[in-house]
Amino acid sequence: LKKIGVLTSGGDAPGMNAAIRAVVRKAIYHNIEVYGIRYGYQGLMEGNIKKMDLGSVGDIIHRGGTILATARSQEFKTEEGQQRAIEQLNKWGIEGLVVIGGDGSFRGAQKLTSRGFPCIGVPGTIDNDIPGTDFTIGFDTSLNTVLEAIDKVRDTATSHERTYIIETMGRNAGDLALWAGLAGGAESIIIPEVDEEFSNIIHRLERSRERGKRHSIIVLAEGVGNAFEFSERIKKETGIETRVTVLGYIQRGGSPTAQDRVLASRLGARAVELLIENKSDRMVGIRNNEIVDNDIDDILSGKHHLNKGMYNLSKELSI
Ligand code: ATP
Repeated sequence: LKKIGVLTSGGDAPGMNAAIRAVVRKAIYHNIEVYGIRYGYQGLMEGNIKKMDLGSVGDIIHRGGTILATARSQEFKTEEGQQRAIEQLNKWGIEGLVVIGGDGSFRGAQKLTSRGFPCIGVPGTIDNDIPGTDFTIGFDTSLNTVLEAIDKVRDTATSHERTYIIETMGRNAGDLALWAGLAGGAESIIIPEVDEEFSNIIHRLERSRERGKRHSIIVLAEGVGNAFEFSERIKKETGIETRVTVLGYIQRGGSPTAQDRVLASRLGARAVELLIENKSDRMVGIRNNEIVDNDIDDILSGKHHLNKGMYNLSKELSI
């Protein structure tokens, strides 16, 4: 193996830079040249490719976002687009590709693999919604951002004796809301994986009011629905006023936590090792603190499971 490529694709996540750095440094350590592809698959099709040296990834381990930039590309979903990508890879003499991104990005990698081009996936998304890994790169940083917001909202919630609804990202996964809600001591955590009756939530709210609790924090995952509509519904059915905070894109930014940097370094380096071992169509991940790899096809047909025990615990602790 002489030359490999690396790209970031889909939504950005803190720690992607640490993963890029690990890929570049690990490859160069093994005398393999690394080519950075900008703007994900879009840049790949357009030949937006540059050789990376050791210095090119200096001073980025602590930065959020991705120095390679990322994009979503409709054209890459077409056969012609994928053909163009393969032509560029061949033109540059690149023999294997590390794709850092979410499940959509792995679908793209799967397409390249089915055309005979070796790819390894590295899970990078704040959503923590990928099977085959306990954690994705970016989740821990995002979680800490959400937690900080909950703590701040709690200060004003206690002072004003109000009920606050905090809407988190996470797409169709409830991990961000669950972890942040548990860590932040939220009274209610509402996530897509659990179909909780609205009346239950109201009941909890009223019960806590009855026992003299005047403030309350509800963490709502975006996958469940819109926090403003939820707030309206509470008002209509109970008369209780709630205030809404939609955290939005701050959840995607910021300097990655130690946890994310270490994870990204381990996963990025392992991806290079797999290419050296002539492996393809694998996604690296972490299970019980061990680095593992799984078939991308299995990852894409699998399902990320929420930790039900943790959800139940959050209920027990928030009575
Ligand atoms: P995140 O979940 O953080 O947003 P993601 O990787 O899931 O990240 P997507 O927008 O779903 O983000 O996918 C990124 C890119 O991967 C797409 O814009 C597209 O170029 C490519 N891609 C997605 N699905 C396919 C597919 N079925 N075939 C080929 N390419 C795909």
